[in-house]
Amino acid sequence: MAKFENKKVLILERKSHLGGYTNEVRKQGSYIWEAGIQAVGQIEENSINRLIFNFITNDSLGWTRLPDVYSRLVYPDFIFEIEKGEENFRKDLIIMFPQEEEKISAYFRDVKIAAKWFNRNRAITTAPLNKKRTQISTDSIEKIALSTLAEYLDANFINPKLKALLASNWIACGLLPSEAAFAIHAATLNHYFEGAYYPLGGSKEISETMILPVIQKGGMVLTNHSVGEIIVENGKAVGVKSNEIRIGEKIQRNYYSDIIISNIGARQTFSKLIPEFIDEQTKKEISEFTEEPVTVTLYLALHSDPREMGFGAENIWIYKTYNHEENYRLNSQLTEGRCGALMLSFPSLKLKNTQKHTAMIAVLGNLQDFRNWITRPHKNKEISKRALSGDISNTILDLVESRFSGFRKMIGFQDLSLPINLDTGEYIGGNIFGFPAIPKKFKVKWLHPETPLQNFYITGSDISGHGVVGGMLSGVVTLNSIMNVPISVFRVFRDSKQK
Ligand SMILES: Cc1cc2nc3c(=O)[nH]c(=O)nc-3n(C[C@H](O)[C@H](O)[C@H](O)COP(=O)(O)OP(=O)(O)OC[C@H]3O[C@@H](n4cnc5c(N)ncnc54)[C@H](O)[C@@H]3O)c2cc1C
Repeated sequence: MAKFENKKVLILERKSHLGGYTNEVRKQGSYIWEAGIQAVGQIEENSINRLIFNFITNDSLGWTRLPDVYSRLVYPDFIFEIEKGEENFRKDLIIMFPQEEEKISAYFRDVKIAAKWFNRNRAITTAPLNKKRTQISTDSIEKIALSTLAEYLDANFINPKLKALLASNWIACGLLPSEAAFAIHAATLNHYFEGAYYPLGGSKEISETMILPVIQKGGMVLTNHSVGEIIVENGKAVGVKSNEIRIGEKIQRNYYSDIIISNIGARQTFSKLIPEFIDEQTKKEISEFTEEPVTVTLYLALHSDPREMGFGAENIWIYKTYNHEENYRLNSQLTEGRCGALMLSFPSLKLKNTQKHTAMIAVLGNLQDFRNWITRPHKNKEISKRALSGDISNTILDLVESRFSGFRKMIGFQDLSLPINLDTGEYIGGNIFGFPAIPKKFKVKWLHPETPLQNFYITGSDISGHGVVGGMLSGVVTLNSIMNVPISVFRVFRDSKQK
């Protein structure tokens, strides 16, 4: 908005830093971790996504390529490396499971068409309300896209190890194979087929470079400002009430604007900011979506170089069993000493920070697990809280150690971050995936930038898709609803640049 119409933009962020999950975490001086970005796909030079990033950051966001092998999947008795290039991925699977060759090839074709279907669905669903929306017909592609991942795999494959391997990205989709629409699985897998990238200088560069045009045009960023209410006058949104949170006190401040956009997640927006504008049918449909999973993150400062143990800048996914439903069931009992699946990465190897090595482990868990812990009787809650952090960290490290013996010896300092305030029960994480991408999500009529309240819009993971690219595209799509700036505008820029 700052760049297209010279708008003065005010960004209100409840945390002490901008950027949501793209923020970086610094502890103990110069140890650095990423909060939620390990790899970003589909930003090859000259791609439309790269062009949009360049445009909205005044060409100041750079990218570095991660190694060709960007993911290692670690199962109980084998490790599978995903290498850049769809064809490499396909061939490696066929070498391992030659008897299912034909089905594997068909699977890659289905992934491609379901990923395309996903993009088409999001484009149609999120197009401006005043432009005609064509319904996607119920054809054979939609049937594949809207089957669950588990249904697809069970119908096409025999070997349970192969099925588990193909479903490995359930963590990146935030949904179990039995629940995830094949479309979200396909879109997420397809996202990395051409390889993975990482922001030059670290993930914090994403928000730091994006606010440049905002500041240039006289806009502002206010951190420690939590928005709790929308100010409505004559049926239109005209401002927000926010609490500025300073040590020990909350100061209420109102801000006024003719356009207000919420990026706190559609569920939070509908239920907390504008519940009185949401009709009963929509509320009922919303209540049918289960709660999104949350992440528990363990930050590790290492006193030796992880490359000595064979690690690199790739991301490592460790699964306790071949059954992902069981793996998530275990993750949902972290507070009871169980862990079934995790993602391990080494930010220092991506940042080329050879002095201060770091590792980060993320586990997809369940808020209810922590709520249960909070309601349990504790002799001394403070002591229990401290013990809980230590116990969860140990549980997580046990799973890593079981696959990479000696890992613990590298650890100098560790810190666990929970998604919930253990005193109040309040969720303190962000909006990772948006509403869970179950098949039903692709049919609802209310997940688009416009809301029932005039001048009030939604953006973020719920609109175009999750992840850095999904979030960025959501911004563009919301802009289109407000100011009629379609993605095709950026295509014109790209084509004129290439001439
Ligand atoms: C551990 C982990 C690893 C990930 N890895 C990757 C990856 O490798 N690649 C990738 O592309 N994606 C990855 N993701 C997903 C990606 O980070 C998210 O999909 C993306 O950040 C979502 O963007 P968003 O803007 O919708 O939400 P968020 O990033 O959550 O931003 C929402 C912001 O709103 C703020 N907020 C909330 N409520 C209020 C309020 N009331 N008032 C003011 N501010 C408020 C929050 O503090 C937050 O800053 C990962 C996520 C996690 C958790």
